[in-house]
Amino acid sequence: MTDCLFCKMVKGEIKPDVVYEDEQLLAFRDLNPQAPVHILLIPKRHISTLNDLSESDDALLGSMLRVAAQLAASEGIAEDGYRTLLNCNAHGGQTVFHIHLHLLGGRAMNWPPG
Ligand code: 5GP
Ligand code: ZN
Repeated sequence: MTDCLFCKMVKGEIKPDVVYEDEQLLAFRDLNPQAPVHILLIPKRHISTLNDLSESDDALLGSMLRVAAQLAASEGIAEDGYRTLLNCNAHGGQTVFHIHLHLLGGRAMNWPPG
């Protein structure tokens, strides 16, 4: 996906504040943080929305959650708690169409979300 913002980050054409990288995943700080810790964790492979996942992505999504918990620990928010979420399409509030797991913490989150 040549016009995808997050694919450009994977390719190194745009350089975010990277906090984690492995063969499959990239994590970086959100440009417009909604909490003291706000990290976006993405698969390096382009997947537009949660609706586009297939069974072969099960392990990938499992890795994303495991790495999110690992990042929560390294950011010092694991004990107090944090929120992970994936927005999907218009009603979910998705604005970048390359799936990304939000990791939010460092303050108490509200429920229900807006
Ligand atoms: P969504 O609304 O799609 O769930 O989340 C997209 C997120 O990407 C937003 O939290 C937004 O602040 C973040 N974002 C948009 N553009 C950039 C960018 O260029 N760099 C970084 N680091 N984050 C971005
Ligand atoms: Zn992409």
